Amino acid sequence: MSAAQSATAQSSAAQSPTAADLARAVQARETTPETLLQGALARIEAARDLNAVTSLNPGAAAQAQAAQARLEAGEQLPLAGVPVLLKDNINAAGTQTSCASRILAGYVSPYDATVTERLVAAGAVIVGKTNMDEFGMGSSTESSAFGPTLNPWDTARVPGGSSGGSAAAVAACLTPVSLGSDTGGSVRQPAALTGVYGLKPTYGRVSRYGLVAYASSLDVVGPLARSAGDLALLMNVLAGYDPRDATSLHAPAQFRAGTPDDLRGLRVGVVRESLEGNTPGVEAALRGTLDALRGAGVTVQEVSLPTTAHAIAAYYLIAMPEASSNLARFDGMVYGARQPGADVEGSMTATREAGFGREVQRRIMLGTYALSSGYYDAYYSKAMKVRRLIAEDFARAFRDYDVLVTPTSPFPAFRRGEKTRDPLAMYAADVDTVAVNLAGLPAISVPAGFETVEGKRLPVGVQFIAPALQDELLVRLAGGLEALGAARAVLPEGYGV
Ligand code: GLN
Repeated sequence: MSAAQSATAQSSAAQSPTAADLARAVQARETTPETLLQGALARIEAARDLNAVTSLNPGAAAQAQAAQARLEAGEQLPLAGVPVLLKDNINAAGTQTSCASRILAGYVSPYDATVTERLVAAGAVIVGKTNMDEFGMGSSTESSAFGPTLNPWDTARVPGGSSGGSAAAVAACLTPVSLGSDTGGSVRQPAALTGVYGLKPTYGRVSRYGLVAYASSLDVVGPLARSAGDLALLMNVLAGYDPRDATSLHAPAQFRAGTPDDLRGLRVGVVRESLEGNTPGVEAALRGTLDALRGAGVTVQEVSLPTTAHAIAAYYLIAMPEASSNLARFDGMVYGARQPGADVEGSMTATREAGFGREVQRRIMLGTYALSSGYYDAYYSKAMKVRRLIAEDFARAFRDYDVLVTPTSPFPAFRRGEKTRDPLAMYAADVDTVAVNLAGLPAISVPAGFETVEGKRLPVGVQFIAPALQDELLVRLAGGLEALGAARAVLPEGYGV
């Protein structure tokens, strides 16, 4: 089947065109951006039950027409007409940016985030925004003012979080690719729990300008896709220096999905601390991945990162204080919905009480506490020291290994409601991902298999971690595993083009 045929096929065959297929078909005039947009809108409508999409972009048709006009003028557009969904904490002019919070009800963004600008410049069409845990705080997309997103593999289960809408949308192929943000695992963990690829770039590699801040020293925007090639395609568009983000890095790069040849000679370290407490399906997927790597000429050995045992504690003691400070701006005076009060302070208090959900309020309180005088040294400053030790653990391991590997999550998708009453159980879901953010490193989750739970096939992900600025290596590695059949995004039944 040609790219164009698969791009426009109306069957429910268990395959789906990649973003690269679609861009090629548009560039070859076999289909149009407008046709692809209509297809995405129809799939979003048909999959409304998933609650993956929070709003549509009223300017999408105009973007499709503009992309078409540029093609007709002879421009080459790497993402020609590719429909893309953005997590609802990424600004796109004229769209709602709610962060899935009541406090931002009615807020329409007046400007584009740098990532949005880059996507549109490359010919993509922003179809709409995706559901998330409120302000990115969660691992299940249940703490959303719009209600939970469902996992297309089992709608009784969560898609992971906080970029659960972006992950569910790509898993169900509403759009071939989407953007999420990753502060402590929010691209990788939902990618794993829905069976797609997710990349958390090196901190500073992709601009944060226009991403609503959760914890600024950890936040990064990352792509989700159904193939390693699409991650490469997106990263070639997204990565790059941005003077509007003070932490942006000058580090030009060329991304491509690798082949099995790219794997030969790599030294992979399996993080010993991540081998405990995993479900049998997660263990099997990791074992299968390691066998495939060995077969392709990779050296695989265990390595210890002792300080990562403290990563969750350190992460939450850094993320919450940063969040408490970042979220101070939401007081109803400038953005979103304002509650009346006897005076300005009364109005601010009422706005924040009514506007923030319980998890966000908990984090603002804990974060403020950890920063307050008398407690700062005991909590925040100590967590910063642990952060340094974790970074040193990684640096030591990278003297002997090119890449490290862990499960992305110790378990596949859990049931909705299973962890909502126990915040510590929810925080523990991040055990494999948060250390990477503390160290600022790039990491990828690849769909590595399935675990059957209560008669349902649930996807399992494996995570690879590389030294700073070696994001390209991770995408090559993912491509190699995909070519070997050891990583594969499968379509859940009932979805697809
Ligand atoms: N689950 C983690 C948290 O709640 C990570 C979230 C994220 O990466 N945005 O903070």
